[in-house]
Amino acid sequence: MQRPGPIALCLLALLSGCVSPGYDYGTRARTENDLPLKADEAQIERGRPIPILDGVGWIVGIPSKVMLLSTRVDNHFVSHGTEQSLQEYLDANDLDRVKVRLNQYAPLDEWRRLRGNKSVAPGWRYTLGTIATLTYTLVPGRITGGDHYNPFTNTVNIYSDHPAIALHEAGHAKDFSRRQYKGTWAAAYLLPGVALRHEQIATSDALSFLASEGLTGEQQEAYKILYPAYGSHIAGQVNNFAPPPSNLAITAACVIPGHLIGHWKASHVEPAGAVVEPAPSPALAATPGYVRLGDDLSLPQRPAEAPTDGFTEK
Ligand SMILES: [Zn+2]
Repeated sequence: MQRPGPIALCLLALLSGCVSPGYDYGTRARTENDLPLKADEAQIERGRPIPILDGVGWIVGIPSKVMLLSTRVDNHFVSHGTEQSLQEYLDANDLDRVKVRLNQYAPLDEWRRLRGNKSVAPGWRYTLGTIATLTYTLVPGRITGGDHYNPFTNTVNIYSDHPAIALHEAGHAKDFSRRQYKGTWAAAYLLPGVALRHEQIATSDALSFLASEGLTGEQQEAYKILYPAYGSHIAGQVNNFAPPPSNLAITAACVIPGHLIGHWKASHVEPAGAVVEPAPSPALAATPGYVRLGDDLSLPQRPAEAPTDGFTEK
């Protein structure tokens, strides 16, 4: 009954999350106030394998595996190949202050990073940032899964062994690295529809990076997982207004087209050598604080004075 509507919407939204020529590597980042890594600190850390705990996490993640049709989702075993892909993406985009935790639970260090991450204004860090870090502390991803980027601590948390998912999460970090008003951009995620823009940017960047690097096979795999994942985000937006059990039908109506379109896109991937990029839409380009290749860096970057109202971002 309600399927034609959501499906049509999903098709349109999914098709808008594509790539276009000329990948924009991660220069022009506004990361001077990000908390740097310590002298002896590894950028990417792994949690110690705990077979029983990771086994429980694998079972808890079955719904995600079914939805995205991949046993690598929330499998709590991140391979060195996925780690290497992530490191290459971070290096290529100069994201040297982003922390990455592979199936790791490190709440004390996350609270330290929350306190020290001056890129996000204290008004946002000590409200939404506290909620995000408290959630990380009380609902351990080592059990619940859920790959995500925490903009308040500038940390990527990965529980799935899929390079495209890891690159997507790092794509969020890259998006935030270019924002002047990082806390505001994070808060905007909670507004209806804005999350889809966040997700589209991260997905487009991951796909574009793989295309730019000539990694055809990885790009095909990325389409197959990131498109249905994007469909799940669309469903999440609609489900905010839908009572159960109709939310299951809505989720299916968004995720299934994601699979179909993702596979179709994967089958039409250009061979290595065709360079593509995430082309920011006019709306993105007009977003306050967004910078991209070609912008005039001689413009003032940020005020020299510290913020005074707690929500003004450096
Ligand atoms: Zn995302």
